[in-house]
Amino acid sequence: MDPWTPRPNRADKQASIPLLRSKPGRTFAALCVSPEIVGAYTHFWKGRTALCTYPECEPCHAHRAARWYGYLHVWTPATNATALLEITPSCVTPLEEYLAQFGTLRGAKITIARANHKINSRVVLTAQASAYALDKLPATLDVRAHLRRIWETTATLAADAAAPNDNGHARPRLHA
Ligand SMILES: [Zn+2]
Repeated sequence: MDPWTPRPNRADKQASIPLLRSKPGRTFAALCVSPEIVGAYTHFWKGRTALCTYPECEPCHAHRAARWYGYLHVWTPATNATALLEITPSCVTPLEEYLAQFGTLRGAKITIARANHKINSRVVLTAQASAYALDKLPATLDVRAHLRRIWETTATLAADAAAPNDNGHARPRLHA
């Protein structure tokens, strides 16, 4: 196959939504596109994130703890950038309070920061009503499908690099 192409494979494009984690010393703000939290217990196992499938779960059998993370599809209007924002259990209460008041997280202005400069300090999240019109927000993503793809992509990165392009689509050519 010809590795020089102006366009990535369709599968690569779909996997391109970045996963954002809160970093010490940085405050991140964006609008929430998701109507609700998508959360899951996962393990870090064999170099990648794997869903916990308790009671039939290999990492559980190896006495590895499962951790909960939540994910929100967020959007920054100024740059038109979308991302999946990873949240921790400490972020859930303000989101549930917002949900109780407004019935959806869609359109909420989310601000996320670390409590202090330490890498594993508590993640502090605030959710406020925004003046942004809901119909101007991007369409809601299938967050679960994107997470599965991100987790699988991390595991199969090395295999992909060696695999031929077998998606069945002809590569675009500038000159026939
Ligand atoms: Zn498990």
